[in-house]
Amino acid sequence: MDNRIGKGIGLMNRITLEGKLLFATVIVAFLTLVLTVSALIPTYESYRSTHDNLLAVERFQQVLEVATHMSAERGPANDIMAIEPDSSAPATERLRVFRRISDLALEALDEPLAVDVSSALPDLQKAIDDTRDQLRKAREGVDRVAATPLAERRPQDVQGAIGEMIEVIETFQHVVDWHVAAFTSRRPELTAPFLTGRMISDMREYGGRAASQIMGPIATRQPLRDSHITDANRTIGRLLELRTLMQGQKIVSDHDALSAKLMKDVDTIFFGSGLDLVKILIEQGKISGDYSISAVDLTRNYVPTLQPLARLRTVFLDDVVKRYRAQHDAASYRLAAIAVITASALAVLLALFRSIRLHMLDPLLTARRQIIALAEGNAMTNLGVSKAPEMRSLFEALELLRGKLDERAEYEARLKMQAEKDGLTGVWNRRALEGFGNAPSEREEDVCLMLIDIDHFKTVNDTYGHLTGDAVLIEIASLLQSAMRPTDIVARYGGEEFAVLVSNADLEATAAFAEELSSRIQAHVIRDAETGVDLSVTVSIGVASGACGTEGWRQLIASADEALYCAKKQGRNRTCVFDDEADRDIVENALIPFRARRSASL
Ligand code: GH3
Ligand code: MG
Ligand code: MG
Repeated sequence: MDNRIGKGIGLMNRITLEGKLLFATVIVAFLTLVLTVSALIPTYESYRSTHDNLLAVERFQQVLEVATHMSAERGPANDIMAIEPDSSAPATERLRVFRRISDLALEALDEPLAVDVSSALPDLQKAIDDTRDQLRKAREGVDRVAATPLAERRPQDVQGAIGEMIEVIETFQHVVDWHVAAFTSRRPELTAPFLTGRMISDMREYGGRAASQIMGPIATRQPLRDSHITDANRTIGRLLELRTLMQGQKIVSDHDALSAKLMKDVDTIFFGSGLDLVKILIEQGKISGDYSISAVDLTRNYVPTLQPLARLRTVFLDDVVKRYRAQHDAASYRLAAIAVITASALAVLLALFRSIRLHMLDPLLTARRQIIALAEGNAMTNLGVSKAPEMRSLFEALELLRGKLDERAEYEARLKMQAEKDGLTGVWNRRALEGFGNAPSEREEDVCLMLIDIDHFKTVNDTYGHLTGDAVLIEIASLLQSAMRPTDIVARYGGEEFAVLVSNADLEATAAFAEELSSRIQAHVIRDAETGVDLSVTVSIGVASGACGTEGWRQLIASADEALYCAKKQGRNRTCVFDDEADRDIVENALIPFRARRSASL
């Protein structure tokens, strides 16, 4: 188990920071999407249901409007049944217009529903068609009565035609019921507004019906029959019942004063004056056909009292539609807000990922490359890739480190110089020369060594002083340095003794060059700064050839030293060459002064 955890941690450590960042970003994006979806589903459902609710209440409003139009048609129908046939063109025209409006309203219901409803419901189209049939039948009745001369018109024919018109509304009630059932079965929240809407609509219908039911006898000035009285009283009873049910109903949401005002108008104007007039006329009709007002006056006085009922219905239905539209709008806004918030969150996440990569990970990798470059002693390029303050300070720290490393390198170089160069003359010191000499050589016998010793240098010191002696040493060193190739090594071997290691050269040529060097030194005038006296020195040179490397070098030094010794011994100011081909026992002969040997070979 522990082992597995350890492996897990090991694996985590091997994943790059960018990999982890990408992983985290993907996880957070995924969680954001999960959150969004979990918030989106109920919001979308609410959006859908408020949308359907809105469609439902709009449709219901449309259905109730059809009922209103068909009820309203009774007004002009009553009018033409109260006058002589074709005696009033305006009345005929008015009826035609009202009928057209009813037809158009009814036609609109043929449109298929935009909301899903239960398939178990009875056929809506049949209910609409039944209404249409009843409407046609009722209109034919009205037209038949209106075509009969007034004198021949029987009250029961008028009342029958009115009854058929009322029957249209009763038939249409199936359409209304269908909608109430269809919409409230799946959406219980619609029950209250639908039932209230229906009650208000019924109240308007019964209000109109109460006068229509006694209109026939009044138009023909006949007493009321029992059936009239029963029908009218039933209608009045329903109205009072509906009024009781309406008690305390909220008509306009969040506007109690307006609701109260609407109901008050209904009470005073309709139930007060309008219905009272009907009640008085019923009382009069019970006794005789001697009514206090004519049918036309009844219509004129009564219809305006229905106004508060119509207004109540309009305000209520408008308010319901408004309320559901507001709910739907709120759901739409919520949906849009979630979409915007999610999109923003994902955008921020992406920007964060990009920014971290750009301003942290990339600079870190650059810093890593530059640290490696520093460690390897390479110059750093392209500093300050990031604008983030933290990263800037990291690169400033790197810059500081570079400064320190440069300082140290300079210091080390100085130390190395001091360790390998002669302090007085600036040429390599003996230790450095030993270093070069002891280094293994690539080929054998490819180097020559000159040991150059200033003759009677002690005398120079003694004569001109130590400082002049120093100046002579500096001059000779400089002369040697300038005479040699850059690949040759000029070193101060001892107090007034120099060594020159010549690479890739044969002994003959080196000896010749040593001779020439000797002449140049002798010819070189050195001015004593103190006294202003000019002086020159001679040198004795021992030349030998051999190889570098531990063994070879020891041999080479010894040989050159022997040759130098020979030069000194033979009187100084000369060059001797160590000849290792001669018999090693006869040192005298082996160390041939160069000049002598050269002349001998000539
Ligand atoms: P020889 O011809 O046999 O080489 O005689 P010499 O006088 O040149 O040799 P010797 O070894 O007797 O003397 C070397 C002198 O070099 C002794 C010493 O004071 C002097 N000398 C050594 N190093 C320095 C130095 O750095 N500066 C000065 N001015 N003199 C030095
Ligand atoms: Mg010496
Ligand atoms: Mg000397």
